[in-house]
Amino acid sequence: MLYDAVIVGGGPAGLSAAIYSSRARLKTLLIEKNGCGGQMTVTDLLENYPGFNGGINGFDLAVKLETQARDFGAEIVYDEVTGIKSGEVKEIVTVNSIYKAKAVIIAAGTRVKEMNIPGEAKFMGKGVSFCATCDAPFYRKKEALVVGGGDSAIQEAIYLAKFAKKVTILHRRNELRATKILQERMSSYPNISVMHDTVPKEIIGDDRIEKVIVTNLKTNQDKQLKIDGIFVFIGLIPNTLFVTDAAIDENGHIVTDEDMRTSVDGIFACGDIRKKRLRQVVTAASDGAQAAVSVGHYIDNL
Ligand code: NAP
Repeated sequence: MLYDAVIVGGGPAGLSAAIYSSRARLKTLLIEKNGCGGQMTVTDLLENYPGFNGGINGFDLAVKLETQARDFGAEIVYDEVTGIKSGEVKEIVTVNSIYKAKAVIIAAGTRVKEMNIPGEAKFMGKGVSFCATCDAPFYRKKEALVVGGGDSAIQEAIYLAKFAKKVTILHRRNELRATKILQERMSSYPNISVMHDTVPKEIIGDDRIEKVIVTNLKTNQDKQLKIDGIFVFIGLIPNTLFVTDAAIDENGHIVTDEDMRTSVDGIFACGDIRKKRLRQVVTAASDGAQAAVSVGHYIDNL
């Protein structure tokens, strides 16, 4: 079977590409590793995605996008892509199979960045979490630490504060990176506080987390915080490990032009995995649409 387009990744970029590609009557296959939706499936409320005033749950939006793609005829398989061979016919190598396509759209997104401090690996999933939306209910009336100062950290801290007795945000600078609307909202939660200029150094405990040693970067002084759980939101790393020959930037993001073309003929990239300024669900969806239209033009000119 030769597909017109194989899409790698089923987040909002990949699903949007699948909708546009299958609606344009291109034979389309989307390969997703886990379940469709990507990072947005663990977002409680998307309130800036146009058309849903009052917001929409990330998982619910993912289900709508996946259904829309399937309705237009896109095939979706659950498998892990391990390599992409370029050439006139591209080979997409997965753990279980090899697929062939005229064009490939890489929409594999990002994964969470870990802190790499002592204790993090030991308590992974047992007190160290990367998803407040998933784990916050375990911290009812407990004390939690949130690491990071971006949109994810503040949004997830707000969600956590609905359950936890106390939420402390640890941020390495004296100014948060998060958008002002999230900072304003955070200030209405009396159980959230921010420790500036501070980073975590070590997580300590036997069966469960008992405390975290943190370092003030201005004074170089260490301090012990008694906490029950630590939520880490210190950024995202692009999933470009399997990409063989498309050019990437110094941070690992795939470099594309505004038509989502990579440096390799017939290979396109869209969404959070590509080098760009604004990473939002709406920009991922927009990228996906453009990538699919560019694939159509590419195939027409073959
Ligand atoms: P991010 O914007 O890259 O922020 C990461 C935060 O972690 C920054 O505050 C950074 O500090 C800090 N950090 C990085 N490395 C660290 C380290 N080694 N130790 C301690 N702190 C560290 O990541 P994100 O918040 O996950 O957001 C990712 C993208 O998704 C962004 O484009 C964001 O706008 C978007 N997003 C949007 C929404 C929304 O619109 N509601 C929600 C979530 C995410 P510095 O500030 O000093 O660099």
